Amino acid sequence: MKYVSTRGGTRATSLSDAIAAGLAPDGGLYVPQTLPRFVPDDFAGRESLADIAARLLAPFFAGDALESELPAICAEACTFAAPLQPLATANDFVLELFHGPTAAFKDFGVRFLAACMRRIPRASSQPLTILVATSGDTGAAVGAAFAGLSGFRVAILYPDGRVSPRQAHQLGCFGGNVHALRVAGSFDDCQRLVKQALSDACLREGNPLGSANSISLGRLLPQMAYYAQAALSHHRARGETLNFVVPTGNLGNALAGMLARAAGLPIGRIALATNANRTLPDFFAGDDYRPRDSIATLANAMDVGAPSNFERLRWLYPDADTLRHEFSVEAIDDAAIRATIRDRHARFGEVFCPHTATAIRMLETMRAKGVSGDWCTVATAHPAKFEGIVEPLIGQPVTVPPALAELLARPTHSQPLATDYAALSGFLESDAPEQV
Ligand SMILES: *Cc1c(COP(=O)(O)O)cnc(C)c1O
Repeated sequence: MKYVSTRGGTRATSLSDAIAAGLAPDGGLYVPQTLPRFVPDDFAGRESLADIAARLLAPFFAGDALESELPAICAEACTFAAPLQPLATANDFVLELFHGPTAAFKDFGVRFLAACMRRIPRASSQPLTILVATSGDTGAAVGAAFAGLSGFRVAILYPDGRVSPRQAHQLGCFGGNVHALRVAGSFDDCQRLVKQALSDACLREGNPLGSANSISLGRLLPQMAYYAQAALSHHRARGETLNFVVPTGNLGNALAGMLARAAGLPIGRIALATNANRTLPDFFAGDDYRPRDSIATLANAMDVGAPSNFERLRWLYPDADTLRHEFSVEAIDDAAIRATIRDRHARFGEVFCPHTATAIRMLETMRAKGVSGDWCTVATAHPAKFEGIVEPLIGQPVTVPPALAELLARPTHSQPLATDYAALSGFLESDAPEQV
């Protein structure tokens, strides 16, 4: 399989090169030249996430230098489960993607990316610095996946005071080759600094840089696997296709579900729940695509005004009317997020993080309108990561899962970074010492 750019301006590229590059040279996003087509029987006898991922991703790795390593990469990345659980309401389910080391779904994609990157040979013997701007969850997943990996250094930029206290603790708890930089600014400022560094040829000459953001193919492809596993197990058990509601920001998670469906997995409809950031809801309601500044909400990992995978959505559905007809999208504001967390706990004892609550609320609205079938909401983070929001609403503490407790018990250290490019380039050039 070869990969081309959504903008059509680059020649077909190998998977390894596309993963190493991140963005295509013409500024577009890498997409597969064709999509494989599966039937459920292709996965007969495969139940674990690693086994399903290895079969599903085989055509995407075909002909690449990493092809023979694929089963090992899947085994290394998929070390925790993605259980499909019933909800209290009939025919409603939740796919729990928060059982990884940092308690959010980004662990799946980032661990897979790290397992690929450490196997891709590099020209330079200098360490590769993975530069990442984060609104909370990505940075922690990258830190956890690359911590202690020789040949790599990680610099995480996050907006000081705008991530949850537990997210901040996580970002600074890895130490060693992972540096947490708290920026006196917004997430957009962090992202701007990272983009500027990545496009600074002069800086990159002496300091090899890489990225791990949500446009990376190495993150996107493996996320198909948990949709495949959930849909296959549901199909085996009930003979029905499973529909999904996905909490959505940059469209990385939802797009993986769409790709799995396009590749023939027994997935029915896919609905997208956003927070009060209305770029996608307005587009799907018929407006022109209009990226804008993000606004801060309780579901902070979805505070996105310009979804970075939008170009891939348009590649998959070039016709806007078809696209709008294919997916429903609903914006869930903070008041509805709060009410959902409070009510589901009061009525059923269920506890959700603010991101997951957007999907739960959207499904409730759809059910009230008479939508039928088996629907699965996607739980993107554990509620214990957002205890400051969740606990006052449910009136009791949220139990911290063991992996998260382990990180929170470690000491944490971050360093301040001014919101200007000279500060970042200075940091990257100063051979930053390993931290203890
Ligand atoms: C990143 C994130 C999202 C949004 O996922 P996208 O792939 O950007 O759409 C939703 N919920 C949580 C908890 C996240 O960390």
